[in-house]
Amino acid sequence: MTKLFVISGSSGVGKGTVIKEFLLKHPEFRLSISCTTRGMREGEIHGQNYFFLSIDEFKNCAERGEFLEWAEFSGNFYGTKKSFVEECLEKGENLILEIDTKGALNVKNLMPDAVLIFIAPPSLEELEARLRGRHTETEEAIQKRLASIKLEIENSKKFDYVIVNDTVENAVSKLEDFCLA
Ligand code: 5GP
Repeated sequence: MTKLFVISGSSGVGKGTVIKEFLLKHPEFRLSISCTTRGMREGEIHGQNYFFLSIDEFKNCAERGEFLEWAEFSGNFYGTKKSFVEECLEKGENLILEIDTKGALNVKNLMPDAVLIFIAPPSLEELEARLRGRHTETEEAIQKRLASIKLEIENSKKFDYVIVNDTVENAVSKLEDFCLA
């Protein structure tokens, strides 16, 4: 049976690395590509990391009801296209959505079989250091992201599983326990 996994985690927690490692080991899992209005970061590719849309394009998709869920995060819009999820699940692919906690809880309401996994930092101090270490955002953007962390940790109490990302290896192994069960 195919399954839908929703993985959330605070910004800079390293969830991208954990998911990437997991996917290398388990190519039978597919990662959903979301739409976003945020600017492209260096090295990102349209249609691979995200579908980068203008605010108008994003709003039009939302008005046409094309999103399974969408959320505003740190001043930008992010959304998961219904068609993307449906096509993957119809093809029998196990799908991973990497979305914020609000989006994850919305997906759970619509698709109760979805498995919600939260990747937590070993400590808030370490998370802040990782966020700054990326050097991809302005101080203002970092402050916004730090402010959203508390809310995300609060939301994660409703998740099925929490993985503490102490080392990538441990986190991937835990993810395997939950996704391959
Ligand atoms: P970033 O800008 O760092 O790529 O992502 C910021 C946040 O938006 C992350 O928590 C990420 O998981 C979340 N996000 C990415 N795509 C989606 C989406 O389609 N829907 C929702 N609700 N959140 C998303």
